Amino acid sequence: MNTKYIFITGGVASSLGKGIIASSLAKLLKARGLRVTIQKFDPYINIDPGTLNPYEHGECYVTEDGAETDLDLGHYERFLGVHTSKANNVTTGKIYNTVITKEREGAYLGKTVQIVPHITDEIKRRMLLLGRTGDYDIILTEIGGTVGDMESQPFIEAVRQLQWELPEEDCMSIHLTLIPYLSAAKELKTKPTQHSVQMLQQIGVKPDVIVCRTEHPLSPELRRKIALFCNVKPGHVIQSIDAWSIYQVPLNMHEEHLDELAVRKLQIENFAQPELTRWKEFLSRLQHPSQEVNITLVGKYVELQDAYKSILEAFVHAGAANDCKVNVRTVQSEIVTPGNVAEMLQGAQGILVAPGFGERGLEGKVCAVQYARENGIPFLGICLGMQMCVVEFARHVLGWADAASTEVNPQSGHPVICLMEDQKATTIKGGTMRLGAYDCQLKPESLTAGLYGQTAIRERHRHRYEFNSEYLEAFEKAGLKATGRNPETGLVEVVELPSHPFFIGTQFHPEYKSTPENPHPLFNGLVKAALIRTDLSGVHRGN
Ligand code: GLN
Repeated sequence: MNTKYIFITGGVASSLGKGIIASSLAKLLKARGLRVTIQKFDPYINIDPGTLNPYEHGECYVTEDGAETDLDLGHYERFLGVHTSKANNVTTGKIYNTVITKEREGAYLGKTVQIVPHITDEIKRRMLLLGRTGDYDIILTEIGGTVGDMESQPFIEAVRQLQWELPEEDCMSIHLTLIPYLSAAKELKTKPTQHSVQMLQQIGVKPDVIVCRTEHPLSPELRRKIALFCNVKPGHVIQSIDAWSIYQVPLNMHEEHLDELAVRKLQIENFAQPELTRWKEFLSRLQHPSQEVNITLVGKYVELQDAYKSILEAFVHAGAANDCKVNVRTVQSEIVTPGNVAEMLQGAQGILVAPGFGERGLEGKVCAVQYARENGIPFLGICLGMQMCVVEFARHVLGWADAASTEVNPQSGHPVICLMEDQKATTIKGGTMRLGAYDCQLKPESLTAGLYGQTAIRERHRHRYEFNSEYLEAFEKAGLKATGRNPETGLVEVVELPSHPFFIGTQFHPEYKSTPENPHPLFNGLVKAALIRTDLSGVHRGN
């Protein structure tokens, strides 16, 4: 069978959940036994979102091979349970970078380099790249942005050309739109969808299926109307109604026959029905938890939910695994002080101190760590969160009042967190951190090894600073143990306080690898420990 391509475009408004629709369809096709992956083409000029502020673009997701990518890739991995890679996220910046480099090398000598054909050819080459590996039956391609945006135009043009070049049965186009509800008129409106599809068809892309985001069910008449004006069969108008969880969407899409439409259009023979037993088990645990637990997330981007997407999702997975609903309360680290920390973290049965960069909110993170350490509250610190465990311990247990990370205080007399050796000569900011998966060797007797059930693990990184091992002996003597280290470089990757019920700091980001079907052991452990704390003290329940 040839590799088949499904393109997903969006219309009317952004934030309709194209990534979730793409992930849901991919999940259903994978559950039918097909080999599937998803890629995202983003129209912005940054080479990758690594240099973007989370307020601009939400979390930066990191793949196993060290790509800094759009957060939708996190959804792809969580739904599919397979790793994505550098090739799965392409931006306008990457496309132009390649074309301009080739131009300088003389690859187009004598020719004027233009958007069509040079840019569109490079887009098409990248769209087909993963298909050429032979590893996949189906490649879903999500086009970022909204049809009509100036920036998306070359990507849509590339989709048009591929629809024309590829055999009819190897290519499918799905358009996701919004059907707004006007409460004054008590009516769902189809006009914006009609316009959006017209715009798509002006470029020459004919959608095979229209997926309609809606807050109310679409009547058969409305579906017929959309079908007629958008030039598709009535059965090809799919309703995507607001779901109680993003993880319910694959089942909703299956009910609407989206996966069946895909296998028919792509002429995939002998396809099985989707095997979703484990997914459904996860959903039923998620929907009917028998208890609750309160976790407080301390970070500086808390105003924007998307900034901590993978962490929040990891709590959803760990909650379902422990038959409990995890209430994650966020606290802005910038306003936490030694004077108000007890009040700010009141009722927390578990505390997570988030990753981050720069000085803002840093001292609040130190206060949160101290509070968790001194009060025996289950604690997980991730990346900058782990670094602040080290700073806090140095200041308040070892008595080094000036202890700091050189990221914010290069003059500190106790630089307990410092720049990694191979970072010292780096001046370029984009793509130069320690990125992607590295091996980590855990001490067999550690809490972390117990949680993982093994001592050799591999987790993903995104940082420039590290635990300064010159101070390791002093820390260990005083009780903060390095329980995970990189086997090659010796870099400290995990710290623990054995005297505390549950206190772990990880230089890596465990959240990137948590999925509904494989919840992460550290999040699992934190939730479990938080639940025990409720049982012991009782006083935190319901806060
Ligand atoms: N700013 C810290 C560093 O670069 C931590 C990064 C992070 O939390 N991802 O090392």
